[in-house]
Amino acid sequence: MRERLAFSFLARVIRCAPEFAKQGQIMNIRKGFVSGGLAVAVVYVMYASLAAQEKASAPPKKFAIRAGRLIDGKADNPVANALIVVEGDRIVSVTAGGAPPAGAELIDLSKATVLPGFADVHTHVLLQGDVTAADYDEQLLKQSIPYRAILAARNARIALEHGFTTMRDLETEGAMYADVDVKTAIANGEVPGPRMQVATRALTPTGLYPLLGYSWELKVPTGVQYADGVDGVRKAVREQAMYGADWIKYYSDRRYRFEADGVLHSMVNFTDEEAKAIVEEAHRLGKKVAAHAIGSDGIAAAMGAGVDTIEHGDGLTEALMDEMARKGVYWVPTITVGAYVAPGRGGNWPKMADLERDNFGKALKHGVKIALGTDAGGFDWKVLNQAKEFEYYAQYGMTPMQAIRSGTSVAAELLGWSDKAGTIEAGKWADLVAVSGDPLRDITELQRVKFVMKNGAVFKNELH
Ligand SMILES: [Zn+2]
Repeated sequence: MRERLAFSFLARVIRCAPEFAKQGQIMNIRKGFVSGGLAVAVVYVMYASLAAQEKASAPPKKFAIRAGRLIDGKADNPVANALIVVEGDRIVSVTAGGAPPAGAELIDLSKATVLPGFADVHTHVLLQGDVTAADYDEQLLKQSIPYRAILAARNARIALEHGFTTMRDLETEGAMYADVDVKTAIANGEVPGPRMQVATRALTPTGLYPLLGYSWELKVPTGVQYADGVDGVRKAVREQAMYGADWIKYYSDRRYRFEADGVLHSMVNFTDEEAKAIVEEAHRLGKKVAAHAIGSDGIAAAMGAGVDTIEHGDGLTEALMDEMARKGVYWVPTITVGAYVAPGRGGNWPKMADLERDNFGKALKHGVKIALGTDAGGFDWKVLNQAKEFEYYAQYGMTPMQAIRSGTSVAAELLGWSDKAGTIEAGKWADLVAVSGDPLRDITELQRVKFVMKNGAVFKNELH
């Protein structure tokens, strides 16, 4: 026991060593240690002090990026021949023309279009496509969570290569809290990937989400956390927050069907009291709430509960669009996944994809805030590029500039990061991408990203 105590004391001192060194307390520490026979710690402290000084004296890396055409995520028109100066992880200045400052490394993107790094606000890094139920069951039954986390790290890298510097990952599909680990490993620079906000496990009432249909004698994993009753859902929200959820996601509905009124209806999963308790508890803990809601009944129930974002939303009615616009609730349409899975799933899915297309144009007219989300993971990360979603938005009625904003500044607003991300402006994170052509003429250019900078570090440059 004593040994363990001594070890933990030493470990604590070593963890604090750079801080002590900074405060010039080496002498005090030295006295205590030498008398305790822990001279090795003194050496460590001195080393840490030197290392800290060295780090402090190295100036942050400075880049000057010459952009042939700049789409900053905010202005209505692009700026020609812009100069973006980046220092450390931040954008320092953006000017039309101008000379690079002394000491800055020049990155010549004068033949390219530079845009803010993209954001996808609906992904599943721990999933590899689930067109059929069997695809889904197989991943949960045959792949360990460590294996899935390794694939998630690979997926995060793919996303960054495609220009996505930010993602909101909306549940692990049975991989517990592994999204928090992926997010942390990226944030610590251990693996490349977008900066993330994560939802951990998501919620449904017992028995309303796969895996289902197995013998009751088998204990099979569930794709979400089951929670029941007002107290039960509050506890689940608290648990998820404890383990690192930035968002709480719940499944508002299932069993989507068209009825004689032409509206896509659905079965609502939680009672109104439960759904309200989820939202209230999440908001009390400073977390926002995303609701999977496809049918009009599920969307109406989620809106009544006070959620912050509606995911999928195929069955929106014009009354619900008005309510969303009035309350400032975001719609995340995830068209890419719908178009991709519809043929394989059959049934109502192709008709739902058509409905969503009609509703997209209507929602624009009603002033609904639309943020770009793909449901990547619902399709294989290796097969489709998330930037396909921009193309659908342009096809479905947005101008190319509106589509770009949905996946940059509007997405940043949804994430609560308007002051840090989503536009190319002084003071923001230096997250930039570049494409060779003009995405305002051909939106599919966004599927051919040639340059990626995240946090002021160049991750990819095929333009030199
Ligand atoms: Zn999803």
